[in-house]
Amino acid sequence: MSKEASVLDQLRKVIDPDLHKDIVTLGFIKDLKIDEESGHVSFICELTTPACPVKEKFREWCHDFVMELDWVSKVDVKLTAQPARSSLQNEQDGLTKVRHIIAVASCKGGVGKSTVATNLSFALQSHGARVGIFDADIYGPSLPTMVDTEFEGLYQEDNMIVPEMHSSGIKLMSFAYASGQQGGPAIMRGPMVTNVIVQMLNGTDWGELDYLVIDMPPGTGDIQLTLAQSVNISASVMVTTPQKISFIDVVKGIEMFDKLKVPVISVVENMSYYLVGDEKHFIFGKGARQQIVDQFGIENAFEIPIHPELATCGDTGLPLTAAQPAHEIAKVYGDIAENVVREVERLRYNQVERSITWEPSEGIIYTVNGKQFTLSTHKLRCACRCAHCIQEFTGEQLLDPSTVPENVGVTSFNDMGNYAIQIGWDDGHTSIYPFKRIEELVGYKEDGESV
Ligand code: ADP
Repeated sequence: MSKEASVLDQLRKVIDPDLHKDIVTLGFIKDLKIDEESGHVSFICELTTPACPVKEKFREWCHDFVMELDWVSKVDVKLTAQPARSSLQNEQDGLTKVRHIIAVASCKGGVGKSTVATNLSFALQSHGARVGIFDADIYGPSLPTMVDTEFEGLYQEDNMIVPEMHSSGIKLMSFAYASGQQGGPAIMRGPMVTNVIVQMLNGTDWGELDYLVIDMPPGTGDIQLTLAQSVNISASVMVTTPQKISFIDVVKGIEMFDKLKVPVISVVENMSYYLVGDEKHFIFGKGARQQIVDQFGIENAFEIPIHPELATCGDTGLPLTAAQPAHEIAKVYGDIAENVVREVERLRYNQVERSITWEPSEGIIYTVNGKQFTLSTHKLRCACRCAHCIQEFTGEQLLDPSTVPENVGVTSFNDMGNYAIQIGWDDGHTSIYPFKRIEELVGYKEDGESV
């Protein structure tokens, strides 16, 4: 075997923990050089994103596996990231070098969407990413207040708007910069607003960015739909509060992004509780975090407490994540950012092929990555975890399986986000199942082991 082949063989032992594939197959290894005489080996390991949370691990694994070859005396691993060319072909001018657009959305105003968008952006930057924030909230633009800059007025270069820049390097654009701090163009309505948003988003010279975070206008109406149709959004983060109706809001949000084929990768429940000493006080009641996980399969549901520092930092122009990086809440934002980084790359590389149908004579036919399984409708119907079938807080089963007809039939299948499906049953009930739950029931496990 040639020395080059033996090095590559060793590197095949490095498995990307998120993509479940080895780094040679993924095409990460570039510019491999071997000095036969001295035994020096050097190569580039090109990761998907500079914000990769385990990049130092990759360096260590690459180094150690290649060093195992007895003729190797030294290994130089250079870590780089793929150029920030949009993986989603954003054709519009200002967005051509933006790798991922992340929408931060909520169904209502005042739930903390802008607070989440700004803190998430700073957390992404602290992972090593180049970041921009676009404040699309035309009626209540808050970016200039939340992220302070020495703003002196917007200007254009080569017909493109030059974005504002925070001293950290984060690029910013908001209607407030164009219309003065005192308020947005409140008289504009519907399509006019959408046109202006899309023009400003595309007409800004964002340059090379790993993540452009869009603080979406609140709601799930035409403005949001058109905006999301006009640019290629990689993923969205839904922000909600713990009130009972917030679960319904999350459902609405997921339904909207579903129409647009934009996966909702995480849910942030803001103002979840208030800490007095070590005790959590659930001022707005216990949230729907577990329900979101159980029903939609969105395993990344985060809780942010009510904390005066979050509001103070928001008012003084430096988000908590940047002002106090060691703060407990900054750590949660670190987790939210890490989840965004990992999940968008996972979605890009690991396209899972799934289909689900119902054959009255056989049952539910579930196919995942070419493997086919059959499941009885009765078993699936009884596995429903909605609030009617399962006691919300104790997990006790409320549904008596003997009341479900053995041959219960399906009336409809509807996609419910990227991770779940909604099934209408002919006993009048509707259930939502995360694909993971169905896969547990049929005994399917995703291929690939993490390192
Ligand atoms: P939205 O963008 O949804 O309208 P904002 O992010 O502007 O909401 O937040 C509304 C207000 O609530 C702001 O003054 C913000 O500083 C404050 N706020 C947001 N999240 C929290 C929190 N977890 N604890 C305390 N105050 C918060």
